[in-house]
Amino acid sequence: MPLLELHNVHSAYGNVQALKGISLHVEEGEIVTLLGANGAGKSTTLRSISGLTAVTEGEILFDGKPLARIKPEHIVRLGIAHVPEGRRIFPGLTVKENIMIGASGRGRLPRQQVEGEVEEMYQIFPDLQRLSDALGWSLSGGQQQMLAVARGLMSKPKLLLLDEPSLGLAPIIVQQLFATIRSIRGRGTTVLLVEQNANMALSVADRGYVLVTGNLTVEGTPAQLLDNEEVKAAYLGGG
Ligand code: ATP
Repeated sequence: MPLLELHNVHSAYGNVQALKGISLHVEEGEIVTLLGANGAGKSTTLRSISGLTAVTEGEILFDGKPLARIKPEHIVRLGIAHVPEGRRIFPGLTVKENIMIGASGRGRLPRQQVEGEVEEMYQIFPDLQRLSDALGWSLSGGQQQMLAVARGLMSKPKLLLLDEPSLGLAPIIVQQLFATIRSIRGRGTTVLLVEQNANMALSVADRGYVLVTGNLTVEGTPAQLLDNEEVKAAYLGGG
């Protein structure tokens, strides 16, 4: 059974039909990427999975169970963490406090346990350990992105939804970030990755889908997508 299945999912913002019948699946342990131009519906797909945008038709199954009418905070508890575009870390809190907030949906946990889990995050993101007491606002874009991912991982997700993690980051930082995404999967977390940087996304993914104005057009392995004329023309130009 796939960890995540979308069947004919439609979502709308008022009169704007953002998703027009998306069907996809993510198997446990995979990194799957969702490619597409600005406005194609990539963020809306993630928002629909995490319950932030209402699904008007079709269904989403997680671990075989429908997510319909489940509130976003309960969806986090089921094991889906969403790291939205733009990071949204707390500027007035320290790095450590920002990380710890990620565990808050899991109820009251012994302080020692949370401290131990923060240490695990520092092993994945060594820069954050050095910056433990720094305030959120003082971090660079790449550091903020790492922090947003670390915070997401503190909910102990089975599935991590990452929205444009490479946006605005220098190429060397993007390389680091993608190496980290691979290591996160190595720890057993499944990843659904939205990216405009198609080359980078396909370098870590097991499979990918292409989204064009609310519809999926192509699905395949990175090799298949890299070889696809439509994908090459639209997404692999300079990236
Ligand atoms: P981007 O990379 O720019 O975020 P995307 O592929 O993630 O693009 P979405 O953000 O999912 O695309 O947007 C899909 C469609 O829904 C677009 O037509 C967009 O204008 C529209 N849309 C997104 N958010 C809203 C909103 N809050 N209100 C109205 N329309 C929206």
